[in-house]
Amino acid sequence: MPDNSFDLIVIGAGPGGYVAAIRAAQLGMKVACVEKDKSLGGTCLNVGCIPSKALLESSELYAKAKSGLAEHGIRAEAVSLDLKKFMERKDQVVRQLTGGIAGLFKKNKITHVLGQATLGPKLGVTVQQGKEKISLQAKNILIATGSAPINIPNVTVDQQRIVDSTGALALAAIPKKLVVIGGGYIGLELGSVYLRLGSEVTVLEALDRIVPGMDKELGKSFQKILEKQGMKFQLATKVEKATPNRSGGVDVTLVDAGGKQQTIAADVVLVAVGRRPYTEGLGLAEAGVKMDERGRIAVDDKFQTSVKGIFAIGDVIAGAMLAHKASEEGIAVVETLAGQAGHVNYRALPSVVYTWPEVASVGLTEEQCAEQKLEVKAYKFPFLANGRAIAMGEKDGFVKLIADKKSDRLLGAHVIGPRASDLIAELVIAMEFSASAEDIARSFHAHPTLAEAVKEAALGLGTGTLHL
Ligand code: NAD
Repeated sequence: MPDNSFDLIVIGAGPGGYVAAIRAAQLGMKVACVEKDKSLGGTCLNVGCIPSKALLESSELYAKAKSGLAEHGIRAEAVSLDLKKFMERKDQVVRQLTGGIAGLFKKNKITHVLGQATLGPKLGVTVQQGKEKISLQAKNILIATGSAPINIPNVTVDQQRIVDSTGALALAAIPKKLVVIGGGYIGLELGSVYLRLGSEVTVLEALDRIVPGMDKELGKSFQKILEKQGMKFQLATKVEKATPNRSGGVDVTLVDAGGKQQTIAADVVLVAVGRRPYTEGLGLAEAGVKMDERGRIAVDDKFQTSVKGIFAIGDVIAGAMLAHKASEEGIAVVETLAGQAGHVNYRALPSVVYTWPEVASVGLTEEQCAEQKLEVKAYKFPFLANGRAIAMGEKDGFVKLIADKKSDRLLGAHVIGPRASDLIAELVIAMEFSASAEDIARSFHAHPTLAEAVKEAALGLGTGTLHL
């Protein structure tokens, strides 16, 4: 095979693209991965999941040291923040992980091509590298170019006073007043970071609830817990404009739930109203790749686009915009290409909000069960009755399980509480294996663990709880 010819060219080195490239190489394919940014890892590693988790971790420790240790009998006076070091640590975490991918590419003999890829005729790809252009040829192409933040009219992101998620990861000072537009994943995670660092945080949400895709009861409880921490919410609120003012801040004009216009002042505004598929410069239309009605790349059940040999995964196609969804789709594509049975079970796709407490979900919400006219039973076990949670001093939240009324099969699980991101793993496996609530209830759960709350919720759906 000539040097510039590959079994698979992956466009985009985010968690969809780089994972697919590694798996394809492991399956014996000659693989190239084209990425326009020098640093591998895409949004997730560079300006998304990973840096935000580093800031969440550091800010959580700061908040604990500042006000959460006294109840343990620990005096920590004169706790202060070194914002420069705080941000440098996050950058170091990103460097370590993105460098790790470069190492994995080398180990798996994946050709890393730096530059902007454009589709050409007959599965050709041209890559613009500064003034140079190189041509590559593939047997198959996988588009994994991810997504970009959505902008809203009259709110111009300048990454100083009006920022998107990227700008919010690198503020030069802690804003006194932070206004967050959008009560979803990003708004609540990054809002939590600055709340813990001392900002007054107000979340403006267009709908009448936060995290609208999640179970309603969970969302309500989540909002109450965040309010207890000091986060303010204005729901059913429409932002008309945000204008930088002369005093160095921003005036945000909105129409509140009662239809009244109001202007609130902010030092920084974070726009977090969702993301859109990123397909700029790919030349999709010229290549004959069709889009769906919402501007995403249309694919069939094997992730193939309207052009034979061109596949797409992750945020550029329909479905949840989650790193682990993109990774599994990428693996499914390359395993199918290798003659294996590539498959993604979306029924067991978990989602997590990494606030404190964390919020994690898998499967159907109670509202979705009602829409589908399923006969279900639901039970909610509070962490307040879990020994480990009490010992930790983390009594907020609950485990809610939903199961089919007749068969007892688990249909959905929704956790708000300490380490919900870890607790959901058991419930993902339960969904994957089509477990019943009784299967969970009869399984050992080590004592004393937070996971016992999962067992108790399952008992609550059957013979009854033991500790409530
Ligand atoms: P999101 O879809 O989670 O939330 C956006 C929120 O903004 C929604 O509640 C929506 O109703 C609201 N909204 C939309 N337009 C508005 C407007 N004009 N004014 C006020 N509110 C408005 O989107 P996000 O938080 O921007 O995150 C983007 C994507 O990134 C999501 O799809 C998410 O899955 C992903 N993400 C995931 C994680 C995670 O897994 N922990 C973390 C960050 C981001």
